[in-house]
Amino acid sequence: MVKAFQVNDSNYDGRFYVGVRSTGIYCLPSCKAKLPKLENVAFYPNREEAIAAGFRGCKRCKSESFPDVLPKWLHDVLTYMKNNYDARLTESKLTGMTPVDITTIRRYFKNHLGVTPLAFHRRLRLIHARELIESGVNYLQAAYECGYESSSGFREAFSRQYGCPPGRLNGK
Ligand SMILES: [Zn+2]
Repeated sequence: MVKAFQVNDSNYDGRFYVGVRSTGIYCLPSCKAKLPKLENVAFYPNREEAIAAGFRGCKRCKSESFPDVLPKWLHDVLTYMKNNYDARLTESKLTGMTPVDITTIRRYFKNHLGVTPLAFHRRLRLIHARELIESGVNYLQAAYECGYESSSGFREAFSRQYGCPPGRLNGK
């Protein structure tokens, strides 16, 4: 991915997205903007995860419109998910914040992300928990901030997503 991004390989456009922490923008691998330092770069398998991590689309490579234009309601959903890692998300909450019905939301997530919207939220919560732990936060605290009421439930979900228990990451 690093290589594809460094040589602006457009064959990889849509296969992953590049978040640039120093600018808060996410790009296509082919973006011709000045190459950021690698330590400021994070890779995402899809736009939705990049947006949920707080990145905005790039005006230069139009990353927000590739391969298609994102529905407007999706931004509200992703922003809510990002700001509410500890919330009990329900489908009725989702329809309450968008003008579309649950069938449309479910279909979008299934087609673009391969999971239900609630499963995507759970994935984001674990990504956030992992970031917290990697930045030195105790895993019980990370579990709490991501809405897990029991540490065993958190350990189980975390191990399922990452193949190792959360304590393994920072030795606690
Ligand atoms: Zn760009």
